[in-house]
Formats: sequence, structure tokens, C-alpha cells
Amino acid sequence: MKNKRLPKYALLVTITVLLLSILAACNSAPQNEAGQKNTQQPIIIQGPMPIEAENFAKRLENVKEEKSGNFVFYKGTLDNYPVIVAKTGKGMENTAAATAVAVERYNPIAIINQGTSGGHDPNLNVFDIVLGKRVTNIGALKTENMNENQGIDPTKWIPVDLMASEGSAGEDPNAEKIRYYEGDKDLLAAANAVKDKYTKGKVVEGIIGSADVWNNEVDRIKWFHTKYGTSVEEMEGAAAAQMAQAYDVAFLGIRVLSNNKTNDGKYNPDTASANQEYVYEVVKKYITTLSSK
Ligand code: SAH
Repeated sequence: MKNKRLPKYALLVTITVLLLSILAACNSAPQNEAGQKNTQQPIIIQGPMPIEAENFAKRLENVKEEKSGNFVFYKGTLDNYPVIVAKTGKGMENTAAATAVAVERYNPIAIINQGTSGGHDPNLNVFDIVLGKRVTNIGALKTENMNENQGIDPTKWIPVDLMASEGSAGEDPNAEKIRYYEGDKDLLAAANAVKDKYTKGKVVEGIIGSADVWNNEVDRIKWFHTKYGTSVEEMEGAAAAQMAQAYDVAFLGIRVLSNNKTNDGKYNPDTASANQEYVYEVVKKYITTLSSK
């Protein structure tokens, strides 16, 4: 008699397990109903100035604004996936801090640092876009040894890798090198895949150089272009990349040329919104690749 009951229980257990696993499968599927969004890691889009962030923020849905220090985070969704636009403020310090705060607060899956830049490559024109295959700090330098009245010679300055060791960068010959932060290959692939949607200029891979300096000396710009291979300069990318590496978060810099001293490209602030429109397409594409993982 007892034996006859067993198959019934077994059936019940099997059905329950089946239902639970279907439920679990639904939960892990991307782009689910409202409740699921919080469990997905957001994509962070950084822009330094209002003109470099607000255009993108306006295109998000369900936006909630949060502040921390000077930083503004526009938390919203794009195609039902969580995306946060961060207005970081200009420069390396603002950007490094805003990146660290965002990582600690929001646990992002990826960070895109985007905005305007100045051309180092005479083949690039205002409105062209550079995807940062690599990003580097062009303000980390060590000067030559010169005594009083021997003058100043910036062409002799040596790159310093501040991450080379925990010891003195000034004394350590191993630190006398350029550090490059690699762009994430999945973000790069998404950016390359939607290149054709950008019609205001060309989109190329290149090296983005960052420092709290605006270089207007063409010979100095050429020096960076030759020595570091820089395509463009700006004031944020390398700081964000350094933090993204520290926290092991996927990173890509995407910079439009708003000016190019090497070919008389005059500053045009409209480039900022053009870049955001392109980055919007990149993010849309990247989200589809996350869904298929
Ligand atoms: N013309 C603007 C400049 C802003 S300051 C103004 O007067 O308000 C510099 C900002 O623009 C930084 O966020 C930096 O990333 C970007 N940028 C654009 N072109 C640059 C260049 N040639 N050199 C350095 N930063 C540049």
C-alpha cells in the first residue's frame, strides 16, 4: 500500500522542480519586467561638461537623479536595461573620483568615458570620432636634471608610469615608461559594429591622451603624437581608465574632435551632442550583446 504512494510524490517533486527551474530561467533572462532591472549591472556613460552629458541623459527612460559631491548621476533605462549617465565635471581628479564613487555605488558592468577632444593627428577633422583602443596619461612626466640657469626643456621630459611600483617614481628607472590602458574588446566591437550610423565624420580606433592640460603648441602636440602615438587629447579618459582597471570593470573612451590645432580645425561645441548620439547607438548595440551572453 505504502509503495503505491511513492510515484505520486515523485511526480509532485518533479513538477515542482520543473516549475522552479522555469521560474529561475525567466529571472535570469535580460530585459524583464520592472522588478528584474535592479539585478542587472548598469552601464555607466560619463561626460565631463553639461553639453557632454545632458543630451544622453535626456534620452534615457525612467530617470532618477542622484548627487554625490559635484557629480550628478542620471539613473535610467535604455531598451529596459539600466544605464547611468554621470556628469563628472572636467579634469582628471573629478573623473577619477566620480568613477570610483560610481563603481562603489552602482557596481557597473561597463564604463564609457566620452566627450570632446583636440586632435593630435592631422588626418582627423572636427566631428571625427576616436575609439580609444588605448588610453594614456600624458601629464605623468619626469623632467631632466638641470641646474640653476640651465633652463627648461620639455622635449626632454620622460614619461612616468605611476602604477609601475609602490616605490619612488622619481628614482625608479622601471617607471620611465608610458602606461596604456586597453579599451575593452566587447565595447570596441559594439562601437565598430555601429560605425556606419555616424554620418557627421569618420569613426576610427586610436590612442586617447589625457592630462589637466590644454595643449595649443603645435610642436608639443606633434611631440605627443610621435612619442605616445596619440590621436587626440582631452582631460579625463586616462583617469577613468585607471580607476576602471583598479576595479576590473570593462572600459572604453569615445572622443569626438571638437578642435584640431594641427589642421586649423576650429572649436565647435556641437560635436558634443553628435558624439552622444553615436555613443547612444554603441550602448544600444552593447546591450544586445549582453542579452545573448
Ligand atoms: N572651450 C571649452 C573648453 C572646456 S575645458 C570652454 O571654454 O568651456 C576642456 C574640456 O574639453 C575637457 O573636458 C576636455 O576633455 C575637453 N577638450 C576638448 N578639446 C581639448 C583639447 N584640445 N585639449 C584638452 N582638452 C580638451
